This record gives sequence, C-alpha cells and structure tokens, in this order.
Amino acid sequence: MTRARWALFGIFLAATFGSLIAGTRQAPAGRPPGTTYKSPAFTFNKIQDGIYHAVGTGSLVVMSNAAVIETDRGVLVVDSHVTPGGAWALREELKAVTPRPLRYVVNSHHHFDHSHGNQIYGPDVEIIGSEFAREMIVAGKSVDARPYEWFVGGVPGQIAQLEKRVAEATDPAERDRLQNQLAVQRNHLEGTKAVKPTPPTVTLGNRLTLHHGGREIRILFLGRGHTGGDVIVYLPKERIVATGDLLVENISYSGEAYVPEWIDTLERLKALDFETVLPGHGNAFKGKAKVDHFQAYLRTLWTEGKKLHDAGVPMEDAAKQIDLRSQATNYPSIRTVGLTPPHGVWRIYELLDGKVK
Ligand SMILES: [Zn+2]
Repeated sequence: MTRARWALFGIFLAATFGSLIAGTRQAPAGRPPGTTYKSPAFTFNKIQDGIYHAVGTGSLVVMSNAAVIETDRGVLVVDSHVTPGGAWALREELKAVTPRPLRYVVNSHHHFDHSHGNQIYGPDVEIIGSEFAREMIVAGKSVDARPYEWFVGGVPGQIAQLEKRVAEATDPAERDRLQNQLAVQRNHLEGTKAVKPTPPTVTLGNRLTLHHGGREIRILFLGRGHTGGDVIVYLPKERIVATGDLLVENISYSGEAYVPEWIDTLERLKALDFETVLPGHGNAFKGKAKVDHFQAYLRTLWTEGKKLHDAGVPMEDAAKQIDLRSQATNYPSIRTVGLTPPHGVWRIYELLDGKVK
C-alpha cells in the first residue's frame, strides 16, 4: 500500500473501532467490571481553586459524592464510592480536572457506598480512615450489614421490575428511558459483584493532619454518630469541611447510628470555623443551619422512638408508627407517619435494650 492508502486505512480503522469503543467503552488494562456507562459519571463542582465536590451524574451508580482537594503532593479524595467502577471513573475523569496524581483517599466511614472502590488503588495511594472503619471492613461489616442488604440487595429486584416495564412500555420514548435505566442498573449489579472490601492502609484515633504546599488538611474523629467511626476532613484556612454522612444535605441514614451521641458530635462539628460543607450525599451548602436542623431531627427521632419503646410497642410496628412530621419544615420529604427504611427505629430499640455497645 502507498503511504496515502495507509493513511486512508488508518482513518477507516479509527472510524470503525473508534465508534465501537465509543459504543461499548472497551476496557483498557486495569479497567474494573461495571464500567459500561455513558460518560461522564461525575460533575466536578468547583468550590475554590483546587477544591471540588464531585457529584454523580446518574450515568453510573456511584451513590456517594467525593470531595477533591489538590495539594503539591497530589490529590486527596474523600470517599471511594460504591464499586471499584465508581472509584475508577472518578480517577479517570479527574485527569481532565488536574494533572496531579491521586495520592490519598480518605474513607469518611466504613459504609459500602463510601469504601467499596478502595480496591482499585495501588501502593502509591494511602487510604486513610478511622481505626473503627478499618476494623469494620476487615470484619466484613461493610457487606454483612443492614444498609448493604437494603440498598444493594434490592438491585436484582429493581432490574426484574425494569425488565417488566420495558416489555410493557408502548411509548418509544418511555421505553428508551426505561432501557437506559435498566442498562445503568445491570452495570451497577456487575460492579457490585466485583467488590473486594479493602480496608484503610493508614488509621487514626482522633486526629491526623497533612501539611502540603500551604494546605493544612485535618482529618478528625469528633465522636460517634452516623457510625462508630466517622471522620471529617477539615480545611481551616479555606473554611471548608467534608462531612461524609455525619451531616448530609437531607436526612442521613441512622440504621447503625449512635443517636444521642450523634447530637453531641454535631455540636463539636458546629464549634469548628467553617463556611462550606461538602456532604457525602446531596449538594454542597453553606452555613451551620443544617447542623441545627439535623440535631432537631435526631432529638425527635430519639424521643419518639423511646416513647414507643417504653410503651411496649413491638420494634416492627414502631417503625410504622413513629411520627416525625414535626420536622417536615426542614425536611419536606417527611410527609407521612413512619420511617423508611425502618432501620433508624430498630437501632433505637437496640440501643435502649443494650444490644449494641
Ligand atoms: Zn453511611
């Protein structure tokens, strides 16, 4: 072939295989299962120079956000998402945001949706978490637990439902929408099957501070709350705090919480000087009003749960009867009596009955 023909052949190859790759996103070496998705998986919301809040777009199920902090030693990311695919997508998409390599991952706590991407990182990345988070992941408690059962155990059922709805859909636009959702969920299921829970490589008791290139990054355990070992990532100079699930935009999951202690821990959070909160779920927000709102919610959850407990109402019924509507002003999602998932009420019973330490 002449040089011109080779060039044309090259264009043909690029066009043919380029479109194949765009359609199926063929995996390069090291790409984990569960990464068949339409890019991008994340929106990087810029908070300040070198600081971003990465929020999932929905094209890949990532479940939690990541806070992204650049330093002169590389990037620190808070949380690794729900699957190795989620963590992989974040690391790939980060390349368009910063030329610096990912060096540190903080697990805000051990829950599956914040730690199940840990396995993709090599020895050049330190994974930092509380001693409690490490113990829980080593003991298999990121998988063998109520929240995992509830949120991941339900995925095959959701897929079956979607398959049924796709088969029944008569409107082509609606069928396309459902088929898209189905593809996202099938990919998610594949990603969850590939999870190998991987614990932090560096643990802390109460405090660990990184000083890199003019940034001070404090990783703090402020007391038990959402779990027995939540850490926050606090930047005092920038007045930013990444809170994991200790404080989220809406109502945080309380099925493994230490409810009364959580209220006190939030008081210690409030004592820090910060302006911007990067939560583990929901959008970034400013100010401390949401700390007050969530403390009020937790007080009501505890008081109402205890009332039912002390009246001898069985645990299963109590979750259907608990009345949290007084909190609907701050949380409009509370519309009816009862709590879904019921785990928060079950947890209060366990705490009151001394079944958890
Ligand atoms: Zn959590």
